[in-house]
Amino acid sequence: MTRRFTGDSLVVATHNRGKLDEIAALLAPYGIALTSNADHGLPEPVEDGATFADNARIKAHAAARATGLPALSDDSGIAIDALDGAPGIHTADWAETPQGRDFVHAMRHTHDLLEAAGAPHPRTAQFNCTLCLAWPDGHDEVFAGIMPGRVVWPMRGKLGHGYDPIFQPDGYDVTFAQMDRWEKNRISHRARAFDKLIAACFA
Ligand code: IMP
Repeated sequence: MTRRFTGDSLVVATHNRGKLDEIAALLAPYGIALTSNADHGLPEPVEDGATFADNARIKAHAAARATGLPALSDDSGIAIDALDGAPGIHTADWAETPQGRDFVHAMRHTHDLLEAAGAPHPRTAQFNCTLCLAWPDGHDEVFAGIMPGRVVWPMRGKLGHGYDPIFQPDGYDVTFAQMDRWEKNRISHRARAFDKLIAACFA
């Protein structure tokens, strides 16, 4: 049976500022006190799962165990059809450089691979978001959301985070990085996963 969230405090199990801001906005109506991994001094666990759900579980359970509080994680990424679903669960890894994460580098790399593959247009892709709400006793609930769209070039827009400047969701002629946060949060893969989480555990 689905377990409902009845507490008033939740750890958002992420070190990603962009995700934390979006999750805080999505949970704002519920009046829950949110803290993050950084507030608890938690290390980033090794994400060695084979799926978004595996990695979401790893992050949420690590934070719930360490803090004794329910924890919510988000594992997400973009799967590009012409690249056989890459980068998928490795989306964040493509941004790694010796100087830290650089998403302009990641987006350029993505575009270069598509060009090298001679990928036809539109370069269809899906953003995936899998959420895991885990409790310190080991119980969890997992929800996934998908936003279909296309990868575009050059980068467009300055808002958002990660790969937002090269992702144009279906039904729009702007990228995620050209949408204000309210609009992105209404339609995104994260919003879709949150709709399921809220309906099952919070509403
Ligand atoms: P992870 O879930 O922390 O392993 O990393 C997921 C990566 O996917 C992030 O670092 C972002 O680069 C990317 N990503 C996830 N959601 C979004 C989004 O809404 N917009 C842009 N990039 C995203």
